[in-house]
Amino acid sequence: MTEDYRSMWADLGLDLDAHDALLGVLGKAYQDIYLSQKSRPEGMGYFDFVMSEVHGLRIKELLDEKAAGRKIVCSYCVFVPEEIVLAANATLVGLCSGADFATEDVEKLLPRNTCALIKSSFGFKLGKVCPYLESADMIVGENTCDGKKKAYETLGGLVDNLYVMDIPQMKSDQGRALLKAEYERFKTAMEALTGAAVTAESLKEGIRAVNAKRAAIHRLSSLRKADPSPISGLDALLANQVFFYDNPARFTESVNKICDELEKRIEAKHGVFPENTPRILVSGCPQAVPNWKLPMIVETAGAVIVGEESCVGERGTRNLTDESGETVDDMLDSIVNRYFKVDCAIFTPNPDRLAHIQEMVADYKADGVIHYGLQFCQPYLMEAIPVEKALEEKNIPCLRIETDYSMEDVGQLKTRVEAFVEQLK
Ligand code: SF4
Ligand code: SF4
Repeated sequence: MTEDYRSMWADLGLDLDAHDALLGVLGKAYQDIYLSQKSRPEGMGYFDFVMSEVHGLRIKELLDEKAAGRKIVCSYCVFVPEEIVLAANATLVGLCSGADFATEDVEKLLPRNTCALIKSSFGFKLGKVCPYLESADMIVGENTCDGKKKAYETLGGLVDNLYVMDIPQMKSDQGRALLKAEYERFKTAMEALTGAAVTAESLKEGIRAVNAKRAAIHRLSSLRKADPSPISGLDALLANQVFFYDNPARFTESVNKICDELEKRIEAKHGVFPENTPRILVSGCPQAVPNWKLPMIVETAGAVIVGEESCVGERGTRNLTDESGETVDDMLDSIVNRYFKVDCAIFTPNPDRLAHIQEMVADYKADGVIHYGLQFCQPYLMEAIPVEKALEEKNIPCLRIETDYSMEDVGQLKTRVEAFVEQLK
């Protein structure tokens, strides 16, 4: 950290010793995994800075916004529409939940066989180490999978500002109507929180800001189609992770700047790995900061990750919202249309996801798919089996991985990934 933020963290009620320990681990992991990479684009310097200030400058900015009367809203799922949050004059932060913390305390409240992501969200609260969570004026949960749905009942007792959204489970007319009703309810809740009405003008502005940052990420993704790949999967994942908590306009500008650099690299055939390096698509559960375990294993095993079919990746960012509506209701319909296409494994049936994985394999010229499932995540682990079967029917090699956030299985995963990469060669 370039400034001493300790008094800010203390004011937020963080446990300073535990927080020091977390930052120590995070800093070391970043050094070992990110800064040791070769031939990184210069533009990644921005993301290195963002990561070094993730609990510092960004929190200070949010607290300054709060002091100026703006509200901070935190969420755990890509179904929470940032467009509506921005339109109500608030800022949305996607909470990360990508590391184990305070596991013993967490397991007093949740069964041991709960996925690492849900446990992590509890660990950061119980361990008092997340300044975002402690700055939030509202935390938005949602009933997507059963684990989250029931966990929020308990989380509601740990925080005093939890709002839970009801997400449909089927892509039917009724499902769409439910999503629309829920986004209307959310709009009303946001207006009550901030005291600012969502108007046609503010909603259009919100849609434009979020579209711009998604379009920048689309541009970055599309540059990963080149061989040799101009950016590592680790670095592209980082940009997708920072998407959730950076200032939207600054993020958009920084990603576009990297894209300018990557275009020049592509022209010069300057890759992070040599041409014809085996290309892998990762599909499955979201990989939140600082969950870099799988990409680190893949990219040190002689392959490059060219896309993420994930909510921290293309499933979360892929479609833009139609900007042409003129009334709040028209624009809410456009927002519903956009979010209703998110093909999370909580939907049944979910053929769109399978089609999207196949489409991504073709677009990014992937040689194989690694299906990444978190232990105890029923929706994705169950869906992994038909995904693997369908891919293999099309002669697309697929490796199914089930893991958590611990480092205990790194050796075993390395062996399996290396064998898979050999097969792709
Ligand atoms: S995987 Fe499903 S529950 Fe998780 S963030 Fe994505 S949409 Fe939400
Ligand atoms: S990883 Fe799976 S089980 Fe965990 S929160 Fe996401 S959908 Fe639910």
